[in-house]
Amino acid sequence: MEREIAWKSYSPEELENVTALGERYKDYLGKGKTERECVKEAVKLAEENGYKDLEARIRSGKALKSGEKLYLNHMGKCIMLFVIGKQKIENGINIIGAHIDSPRLDVKQNPLYESDGLAYMDTHYYGGIKSFQWVTLPLAMHGVVVKKDGSVTELNIGEDESDPVFCISDILPHLGQDQARKTVSEAIDGEQLDLIIGNQPLMQAKKGTKKNDKPDTERDAVKALALKLIKEKYGFEEEDFLSAEIEIVPAGKPRDLGFDRSMILGYGHDDRVCAYAQLEAMFTLTGAPDKTAACILTDKEEIGSVGATGMRARFFENAVAEIMHLHGEDGELALRRALAASSMLSCDVSAGFDPAFAGAFEKKNAAFLGRGVCFNKFTGSRGKSGSNDANAEFMAKCRAIMDGGNVKFQTAELGKVNQGGGGTIAYICALYGMNVIDSGVAVLSMHAPFEIISKADLYESVKAYREFVLKA
Ligand code: MN
Ligand code: MN
Repeated sequence: MEREIAWKSYSPEELENVTALGERYKDYLGKGKTERECVKEAVKLAEENGYKDLEARIRSGKALKSGEKLYLNHMGKCIMLFVIGKQKIENGINIIGAHIDSPRLDVKQNPLYESDGLAYMDTHYYGGIKSFQWVTLPLAMHGVVVKKDGSVTELNIGEDESDPVFCISDILPHLGQDQARKTVSEAIDGEQLDLIIGNQPLMQAKKGTKKNDKPDTERDAVKALALKLIKEKYGFEEEDFLSAEIEIVPAGKPRDLGFDRSMILGYGHDDRVCAYAQLEAMFTLTGAPDKTAACILTDKEEIGSVGATGMRARFFENAVAEIMHLHGEDGELALRRALAASSMLSCDVSAGFDPAFAGAFEKKNAAFLGRGVCFNKFTGSRGKSGSNDANAEFMAKCRAIMDGGNVKFQTAELGKVNQGGGGTIAYICALYGMNVIDSGVAVLSMHAPFEIISKADLYESVKAYREFVLKA
């Protein structure tokens, strides 16, 4: 059944709201190029919208009342928002969850080397990328360097007009015969994704004179100059890369796409578009919702939700335990009941139908740009392997909530059967026995350096997430 085109339903005032939301999202996406930056920006927005730090509240031990708004920053890479509801938390929480890590190139722990007059930084890609898409692009360097004394230097190089950028080279077509015979996945090997960072050698003055400066060819003089500039400008040394997390991402801000400005071209829509829609939805809540509302922005989804900041870690469960304690609902049984009785939208992007690659999709069950928030009853690959296959009863409830709130939605599978597949955080939260379903924004060129979304789908997602936390 073909779903309605959301664009057709908008009044002039609503169209203005769609545009204004697009502007706010572009601002967030342009500032949040790493999970840490996304958390930082989310904390700022949460505080502006009246959310208080849960950690301080835990220390004070003061009881929580209905309608209170709280956020919890987990290791600077995840954030959770809560609005305390009227009902007991034991009766369940309405949860919306997205991830804020995106595919990128991580700088290795021993990254620097020099070869034939060029200095390089070696990288290790993060998440599912097509390596050939990451060459010959202006790239920026974001991240943190933590020294042994615990001091943290934040890096953000390549976003300001006056900043330099970095780049990975490719072979010219004239000499690309060997490469042209390779498959697309072999054309650029992962180990070839090394960033060019310098060409000029460090000059060493000859003893006793300043006149006959000569490049120091005894060692890697180009690498030496790069290190000298890093030390001068950012105050750290080669050894400090051992305890750094530096992410190489496409440089530049998100832009409107198309004459009609109906779409946004940007890095990291997966899954920051759903993360931002969740934040906007949470910020519309006034007073106490019926059930407690929770928003999770998590890290590490792109590599399997692993580690202390991935959804498989128990930070959300821990946060719920703390909140229930401050709400006078103690005990393991109450916590188990609260989690099992919860309902969740796992908010992650879906593959948008791409007319240029129509063969990868089954059109009746594909998500189209501009037709609203997309529900995926299941994801996975082959015979739904690795999927959270939501219950029909829960899907029916979601349909009723969406229709009740006049939310434009569509349903989809991730491409044709046996074409490939993928997963989200849905199956992890379902481990508590709660109802979970995937829902999100359709994206073109997912996991590419620049991805495409429709502003209408972002708008409908905010409406969908708001309705869900209020009515589920
Ligand atoms: Mn995703
Ligand atoms: Mn992804």
